[in-house]
Amino acid sequence: MKPCSLTLFAAACLASSLDAAFYGAAPDANHPWAVHDENRPQPPRVEPAAVVGGAPSDAVVLFDGTEESFGNWVHARPEEKRKADWVVQDGYLLAVRGAGYIQTKEQFSDCQLHIEWSHAQQLPGEGQKRGNSGVFLPGGIEVQVLDNFNNPTYPDGSAGAVYGVMPPAVNALRAPGQWQSYDIIYRRPIVRDGVSLDEGSMTVLVNGVVVQDSTPLDGGGGHKKRKPLNQPYPDVGPVALQDHGNPVRYRNIWLRPLRPRPADGGTDGRLSAAATTAKRAEIGAEVRASAANMQGWDQMMRLLESQMYASNSAAWDVCNRQVSESVEQFKDLSTKELEIQRQQVMDLHHALSYLQRFDIIAADYKPAKELREIADGLGWLKQK
Ligand code: MG
Repeated sequence: MKPCSLTLFAAACLASSLDAAFYGAAPDANHPWAVHDENRPQPPRVEPAAVVGGAPSDAVVLFDGTEESFGNWVHARPEEKRKADWVVQDGYLLAVRGAGYIQTKEQFSDCQLHIEWSHAQQLPGEGQKRGNSGVFLPGGIEVQVLDNFNNPTYPDGSAGAVYGVMPPAVNALRAPGQWQSYDIIYRRPIVRDGVSLDEGSMTVLVNGVVVQDSTPLDGGGGHKKRKPLNQPYPDVGPVALQDHGNPVRYRNIWLRPLRPRPADGGTDGRLSAAATTAKRAEIGAEVRASAANMQGWDQMMRLLESQMYASNSAAWDVCNRQVSESVEQFKDLSTKELEIQRQQVMDLHHALSYLQRFDIIAADYKPAKELREIADGLGWLKQK
């Protein structure tokens, strides 16, 4: 490669957006991205609904009041064994005694689930026998549905409870006859080879009021039972609604899958050392690939940036030569000429200092020392 001319540096610098790099703390053993890393993918765009509680653009609509959308569900109990079916009427789905559970045809995993439900104004029964139903998340953990607006019961069986695990923090129900809403954020337990990697959690809002906030699932609970953390747990399953013999109505049901956690291969947040190394290698390769489409100064800076994700000797050979040549050229400039190139001198000094601070290049890297001397000699390091 021919030495880059300073004219090229100036032209490249004008078009450059490299000031985004060498900014926040560099990737480390458990974080593949730098803090404030602009190489990180932008979050995908989602159009929110026009009204609060409506399905956003990326939601899977499970029931929208139509018979057609009821086609997303099946009765869990075979036809010959059930005495009735759930029915769609007036835009809602009604649990009918003897129909058994219904469940989605599709399988889901960690998700955000919105669902609305209501009871008739006056239901008979007390405690668990008044308006009992339930929303089952994939894998079978129940968020209780019950008319306990004015009907005390065991607290871990109240509406908004993770059934058998945790009562709702408060009772935020409306009076029976009105529609109630649940917004549920569900992270399933992750159990691998009999080892609980993550016991999972549930956040639940009842009518917009937080009643569960990242509540640990503690084995998942159930009727009269406490379950161990390390029991096998499926990665996917249907969403199900309970027929507990009471006429409960449901409407406006939609779901959004959540981004994967590190234990599921997600690459946001704190990762294992092995996952971090793998992801850093991938990002480093992408940054090097983008550098291949650049020239001169921009390419040098981009290759330097790539080194913070993954050290690559071929890339280092190229950018080391570019850095060395650049510094040699800076050394030959008069003070007046350096003033014109000040931005480039300081950008490169900043990049090299950053990489040294995070032990990505050697503390005694000679071009960095020489560049620092040039900048310091002109008083630029004191004038931040
Ligand atoms: Mg129930």
